[in-house]
Formats: sequence, structure tokens, C-alpha cells
Amino acid sequence: DNAQPRKPAWIRVKAPTSEGYKKTRDIMRDQKLVTVCEEAGCPNVGECWSQGHATMMIMGEICTRGCTFCNVATGRPDTLDAFEPGRVAHAVEQLGLKHVVVTSVDRDDLEDGGAEHFAQTIRAIRHRAPGTTIEVLTPDFLKCAPSALEMVVEARPDVFNHNLETVPGLYPSVRPGARYFHSLRLLQRVKELDPAMFTKSGLMVGLGEEPAQVRQVMDDMRSAGVDFLTIGQYLQPTPKHHAVARFITPEEFKAYEKAAWGKGFLMVSATPLTRSSYHAGDDFARMRET
Ligand code: SF4
Ligand code: SF4
Repeated sequence: DNAQPRKPAWIRVKAPTSEGYKKTRDIMRDQKLVTVCEEAGCPNVGECWSQGHATMMIMGEICTRGCTFCNVATGRPDTLDAFEPGRVAHAVEQLGLKHVVVTSVDRDDLEDGGAEHFAQTIRAIRHRAPGTTIEVLTPDFLKCAPSALEMVVEARPDVFNHNLETVPGLYPSVRPGARYFHSLRLLQRVKELDPAMFTKSGLMVGLGEEPAQVRQVMDDMRSAGVDFLTIGQYLQPTPKHHAVARFITPEEFKAYEKAAWGKGFLMVSATPLTRSSYHAGDDFARMRET
């Protein structure tokens, strides 16, 4: 692959060593659960896990899509594990999470895209850990009937998150299996189905997008009623993945953040290490207080 720009100082990450980190790791292993924190090699894992924040990945470790920024393996996925929703709920309870993010691989092999499994997981967590707020970060259900999305919304997660990931012009090279306007419409549809549900979306920057394109995506999101926004620096998981075009400076992130507040998002996180689920619980707690 092409030579990559050097990682700047603001991308440094502390090695995870705390007790909270170990406890989270052990419970995940015990319950045979997969976390995005580990799969994606997330730079915040030490910090998040020591604070009891985690993002669970359901429906297996093999994805039917092959996004060029993502480190999850592409191929034929495993059969669904009917006991997984219960194990996720058990882990949430054991970890005493205030807020949990549940996400999944894409399951284009399933007729409902895994919607029913998502809904079961939400219900199982509600049952075992009624005090925990639940955020889902879903696939796009591109090939499914409208009832798939409706099923997930009807299970009433507190936050419905679906990432647009990048600007429309970069979709063919970054998210080849996805469609920008389909994803945008999905976010809008969630708001139509349940206006009280918070919706959220995110972007990675440093993939070669122009700032004006990023601001256009913010406008698109707001016109679809999106409430929360995350913007973070794209990091290349391996040399085979999409190259980092540029490291966006902390000042540029500040400018994005300011623009986003101006456009009316209720919650904005835009920093180099922001991830879709970074401090999601804190944001949500703050939202509820206001
Ligand atoms: Fe996990 Fe999200 Fe925290 Fe990364 S930012 S460690 S994926 S909870
Ligand atoms: Fe990764 Fe999601 Fe794309 Fe699958 S659909 S390759 S899990 S980003």
C-alpha cells in the first residue's frame, strides 16, 4: 500500500491495564461475547473498559459486507445463536453498565437482516438490567422489508445509531456495499416511527473528504432529524485497508464541532479519538438531565 502519514502525537493511546479493564475482559470471555472495542482495535479500550463502557457485537464475527475501513472478516456468517441475547443481558447486568451499545455485523444472508435478534437482545437487556440505557448501532437493512427496521424500533432502544461513516462521494471506495441515501432515509424513518427516540450518526474523517462535504452531510443528517453526531479520525487497521489520507488536526475537529452545534445537533463529539460509542453513556446521561 501507499506510504501512510505518520501518526501525530494527538493519536497516542494508553495501554489498557486497569482492574476495570480486566474485569470487563473476563466477563466478555466467560459469556463468549464479542466486543467492537477489541475487534476494531479501538484506541479507547483502556479508558472505556475501566469505566464500564463497552460495545457488544452480536450475530457473529463474520460480516457479509467488506467495507474498506473495517477489520471485521468478510464471508459466510455463523448461524444465529438463540442464547446470545440472554448472554449479552447477563454481561450487562454483571458489569453494572449504565449504558450499553449493541451493534452487529451486516447479515445480508438473513431475510430480516438480524432485526429480530436485535429486538430480542434489547428486550433481554431491559428485563435483566432495567436501569441500563440501551443504544443500538445497526446495519442498514438494505435488502430487507420495512418491517425489519420497525421491529428494532418497536423494541424501544433509548438511542438508535446508524453511521453514515463518510461523505457520499467516497461511498464507492469506503462503503461499497452501502448506499448513502438509503442510510440517511433509514435514520429519518426511525424518527418518523418514534419521534421520542434519540437518533445518532457518525462520520470518520481523514479518508480524503473535503470539509465542505462534511458540513453538507451534517445538513443532510439534520434534515433527517438526527439528534447526536460523532466525528473521529479514521485509523487504518492494517496496511490492506483504506489508506489514511490525512490526520485532521485538533483545531479542524474543533471547527467541525462548532459547525455541528450551530446546525442544531443536541449532542456532538468531534475529536481525533471520538468513536461512535465513545462516552455514549455520558452523553446520554447529560441529555436526560437537560
Ligand atoms: Fe469500545 Fe466504543 Fe469505547 Fe471504543 S469507544 S472502547 S468501541 S465503547
Ligand atoms: Fe465492518 Fe459493518 Fe462494513 Fe461489516 S458492514 S464490513 S462490520 S463496517
